[in-house]
Amino acid sequence: MKNHPMLSEIQMQPFRMHLGDKKIYSQALMPVRGPLGFRKLDYEFVNQINPKEIIDKIIDHNFNSFGLVVKDTDGATIANTKIGWNPTGRDLVQEFSDICEKKNIVFMLSITNMNDAYKGWQHPETVCVHIKDGKTHKAGDPGMHPEGEMRVDLPEGVTLEEMQKKIPFLTDKIDEKTGASRGSRGQGYIPLTAFHCPRSEHIDYMVDLVKEIASNYHVHGILADYIRYHHGYRDFCGCERCRTAFAEQYPAKADKILKCKEWDQFRMANIVEYGRKFNDAVKSVDEKISTSWFNLPGPRIYSRKLVSQDYLGLTNVMDSAIPMNYPYLAGTVDDGKKWGRLGNIMHWYFQKNMAHRFKDYGEDASIYCITNSVECNAEEMLKSCIGYDYGIGIALFKYYGTKEDQWYACKLYGGLLDQQKLGDRPPSREQIREILRKVYEKYPPKVIPRWRKKELKKLA
Ligand SMILES: [Zn+2]
Repeated sequence: MKNHPMLSEIQMQPFRMHLGDKKIYSQALMPVRGPLGFRKLDYEFVNQINPKEIIDKIIDHNFNSFGLVVKDTDGATIANTKIGWNPTGRDLVQEFSDICEKKNIVFMLSITNMNDAYKGWQHPETVCVHIKDGKTHKAGDPGMHPEGEMRVDLPEGVTLEEMQKKIPFLTDKIDEKTGASRGSRGQGYIPLTAFHCPRSEHIDYMVDLVKEIASNYHVHGILADYIRYHHGYRDFCGCERCRTAFAEQYPAKADKILKCKEWDQFRMANIVEYGRKFNDAVKSVDEKISTSWFNLPGPRIYSRKLVSQDYLGLTNVMDSAIPMNYPYLAGTVDDGKKWGRLGNIMHWYFQKNMAHRFKDYGEDASIYCITNSVECNAEEMLKSCIGYDYGIGIALFKYYGTKEDQWYACKLYGGLLDQQKLGDRPPSREQIREILRKVYEKYPPKVIPRWRKKELKKLA
């Protein structure tokens, strides 16, 4: 794409300092989401994970970095923790950290912050409070709502009541059917989700947990996920603490909370303040551990008014930003032409949007993108890999659910990145087509792309 922005030397500095001259090529694992995509919540599965096998596969496929989601939106912390909740009993962080250190793999941890279903069940008083009535809630209610992605299966012989003892935030509502659209691919019992108030004790809990994790393990980076408000409720948080703080800062607007832009500024400042605390918690343990914050880049109205992330503000308090560019989660051609077109439009939009929003992150912002290798095909994945590499490389999401042909494509792409240096432009469209020719020979594609059809015609 024309106008593909590239990071300046200053912007790449934190990566160069921490990780050297190589481009970063990362694969990510979400242990509680089961063996396929990311639509399940499954604590039993955590105990089947084999870290050695996983890191061997990562290395064999030319990745040089690995990201583990130690705490997902359910709230479980898959580590040895005195502060957090670990329903699995397993300490995957120690196991992965040991292997990564031995094998010289960059090791990053992702921690979900404001969204924590277990803590919502345990401490409803720290959950964000609704200011106005909605379809399923009243003003003043804590904002606990059905989770959008994760679903729970009952293993044979296990009743819902037994499962609810293990997962106390699991409802008796069930999603029976799956569909092709992004929001309809889950199936099973529906857990709740809970976004917490940035002035509540949840913040102290998180800061202590982040410190504990930073202290106990050898990691290169700690990444803050869900460092934001719920995208669907601009009326969070209307608790006494937040209302009082708002009224003190903006006395003239205290009775117009939802109708003024100061409310958005107030919410963005709350998140930046949390980002500062997260960063301080990590750096108080070890200055060398880098910090990052995740964001779903969309239009400004989405980041400012809904999730309330101040890009420049967060950049100023943390080392780097991780935009999550998942265009082909919107649709893949493997589900039909209509879905393929939707994915392509999203990919086009995301690239334009990133170019457009680059300056929002700030002139010295390090930007390292993550894109999806699940729920799309090999070509869509590789197009994303080159579309969102601004000089540092690319991260993929996620280990489980990436198909065989995609793994092969990953390996060949990793071979290319391995020859590149930090700051190099991403591989070209022709280079990824060369990879795809090899992939399609071994694994014929579900839908043959037009460029390949043309080539095959010429050859015939
Ligand atoms: Zn509040």
